[in-house]
Amino acid sequence: MLEIKNLQKSFKGNVVLDGIDLKIEKGDVVVLLGPSGSGKTTLLRCINFLEKADKGTIKFDEMTGDFTNITKKDIAAFRKKTGFVFQNYNLFSNKTALQNVAIGLIHARKILPDKAYEISKKALDKVGLESKYDFYPAQLSGGQQQRVGIARSLALNPYVILFDEPTSALDPELTSEVLCIMKQLAREGTTMLIVTHEMGFAQEVANHVVFMDKGKIVEEGTPAQVFTMTREERTRQFLRRIN
Ligand code: ADP
Repeated sequence: MLEIKNLQKSFKGNVVLDGIDLKIEKGDVVVLLGPSGSGKTTLLRCINFLEKADKGTIKFDEMTGDFTNITKKDIAAFRKKTGFVFQNYNLFSNKTALQNVAIGLIHARKILPDKAYEISKKALDKVGLESKYDFYPAQLSGGQQQRVGIARSLALNPYVILFDEPTSALDPELTSEVLCIMKQLAREGTTMLIVTHEMGFAQEVANHVVFMDKGKIVEEGTPAQVFTMTREERTRQFLRRIN
């Protein structure tokens, strides 16, 4: 369903993504691992066009695009296919949980407010925030704020949700409430690409694990292949350090 080929990105001559090929099928839960600076966030941002890639192609089912030569219209169409969950939630502090979820539906998707609020309430219910519609971000815990972030993506009903270290700003207790919601989404068949250092979660929930280093995919496979039958020394070193 989503296929990236030969994705390349440099920042001022510093090569950050060096020919990434990635395929994600419907219902896949792909966990992206790698040391800090290996290019994981940049990869997610390029897939969502938050960052402009230098080279490569992107394909979503029947829709294809070439990163070197893509129109604004195509970028808008591709963006509709992805949701993005940020490390630091990126919520509007002056809007309630419900307004934060509804705003994308109203402005980007041109859905009428009544309908947008109905969809947003369902999304918030799904992440266990049915009693928090009218709370502002500052009145919510970090875990609850991140669940609003997840609801905001869910409401847009994308093909794939991209998670950029969604629990890295949270205490262990709050981390587990967010991971629990993500597990539930995985069980329901939500397609997800997740950057995380939560190895237990990766082993339990991912059906595909990708290890990146220095802008390249070094190793990938099932969790058992990558974690237990590790082939590459660089992966082994990384796993030793993180466990
Ligand atoms: P990771 O998510 O694996 O930690 P990143 O994708 O955040 O890695 O970063 C990869 C490299 O790209 C790092 O060296 C980082 O400094 C660099 N980088 C990321 N974003 C920018 C930017 N906007 N401008 C310049 N360099 C950047």
